Amino acid sequence: MSKIFINQGHAPNGTPDPGAVGPSGLRESDVTFDVGNIAADYLRAAGCEVMVYQSDSLQDICDQANDWGADAVVSIHCNSFSETSTGMEIYTSRGLTRADGLASLIMDQMTGDFPQLPVRSDWSDGDVDKEAGLYVLIHTDAPAVLVELAFISNPAEEAILASLEGKRKFAAAIARGVTDWQVAS
Ligand SMILES: [Zn+2]
Repeated sequence: MSKIFINQGHAPNGTPDPGAVGPSGLRESDVTFDVGNIAADYLRAAGCEVMVYQSDSLQDICDQANDWGADAVVSIHCNSFSETSTGMEIYTSRGLTRADGLASLIMDQMTGDFPQLPVRSDWSDGDVDKEAGLYVLIHTDAPAVLVELAFISNPAEEAILASLEGKRKFAAAIARGVTDWQVAS
């Protein structure tokens, strides 16, 4: 049975750090909390062992995932820039790792569920993921991805992120991507 570690970006209850806040006041930390919990339910139903963890401390997140012996780490965030910024992103650490396959399979599912949202990638390695030295990606032992669901700064995307249907769809896409990856790896 695989052990899937889900990190909901930013601080529990938004204190002290809610992450980005949308034009209507939607907080990133609340969206990630819900999407992470729903994804965990789907993954448990699929037979995975799941640990869900939200913390303001990036080191804490990595320690928890590593101490628990996670097989994969998924960190969930919302993007934020301007009202017209749009789309979905997924990050892995640099270089070709097992996280690249996980990222591709999660993004495949998200694009299936949200065909109206563009995929933001630099296609630097011919792959859908963007690569960055993000803390949780380089300090976790297991393959790790960081998902930016959509732009909370864009009113239309904020509305998707605020809706239960939108959160369920993102959560289901993440869960299906993880289970597809387990089958493939
Ligand atoms: Zn964030």
